[in-house]
Amino acid sequence: MPFSFISKRMNEVTSLLQKNNRIESAKYVSNFAAIFACPICKSSMKVIDFKSLICSNNHTFDFAKQGYLNFATHTGNTKYSKGLFEARRKLITEGAFYKPLSHAIAKIINERFFKSNEIIFLLDTGCGEGSPLSKICDIIRTDFSESIVGIGIDISKEGIMAASKNYPNKIWTVADLANTPFKNKQFDVILNILSPSNYTEFKRLLKRDGIVIKIVPQSGYLKELREHLFLKQEKQNYSNLETVERFKESFQFVESSRLNYVINLNKTSIEWLVQMTPLTWSTTEERLKSFLYKDTAQITVDFDILIGKNKI
Ligand SMILES: [Zn+2]
Repeated sequence: MPFSFISKRMNEVTSLLQKNNRIESAKYVSNFAAIFACPICKSSMKVIDFKSLICSNNHTFDFAKQGYLNFATHTGNTKYSKGLFEARRKLITEGAFYKPLSHAIAKIINERFFKSNEIIFLLDTGCGEGSPLSKICDIIRTDFSESIVGIGIDISKEGIMAASKNYPNKIWTVADLANTPFKNKQFDVILNILSPSNYTEFKRLLKRDGIVIKIVPQSGYLKELREHLFLKQEKQNYSNLETVERFKESFQFVESSRLNYVINLNKTSIEWLVQMTPLTWSTTEERLKSFLYKDTAQITVDFDILIGKNKI
């Protein structure tokens, strides 16, 4: 069989699979189209022909071949490359980097909502390549066997593209956090993991009894890496005080807890960590290399988990 024929056939198969991704995703979103509001005119939206999400004024957003929806008028930070997202996904899925964190978040959601028997709408703001949201939904489904709908939003198209490729049966959207494509009061939980927030928008989107779960780094987060990369003390230390204060001013504070654990990384996981963290952007190549030459490393993961509600 000539190579050109095989290659043509492969392309046909790929294009068929992509078409299926788009249709499957459109079908899934059509079940929950009621949560959307047009980001341009704010009117209601519906899925048409398993191809587009359209508002009552005909503003049209097509499903991409991978299955996500793009509402953004501009694209995000280009420093967050495909390679960075791939490294993050592997560190989380294969390296179990956020495993204790995912379980802690799933437990919080379960304790607060699963007496209600209703579908829980969980929005991850700044979801990147989607692994944390996907893991959390999986844990909730497996351990508590209830229904949860995961919706991820990020300004990075690279991140959302990877998310929709790897994790079907979620709603993945490229959009600006300042102008999200959702109606008021649609979400039971708004999740924000190590990512910028927009509290005005979070307040608008939260249901009356909904909660915001914000994960911020604590002083020990990646301290071994920081100590290795930076000579200056101020870059080695980190304080989340301002972030925590701002959160407490913006929401009715419910509670906070600290989650601290140590992960043993092998050589491959060390490479993923280095690729994934923006910390490595501002160090010297020499320091970076000497960290990469290690065969194993212990890395501290240290977070504050903040929970808040809308003020009444
Ligand atoms: Zn519209």
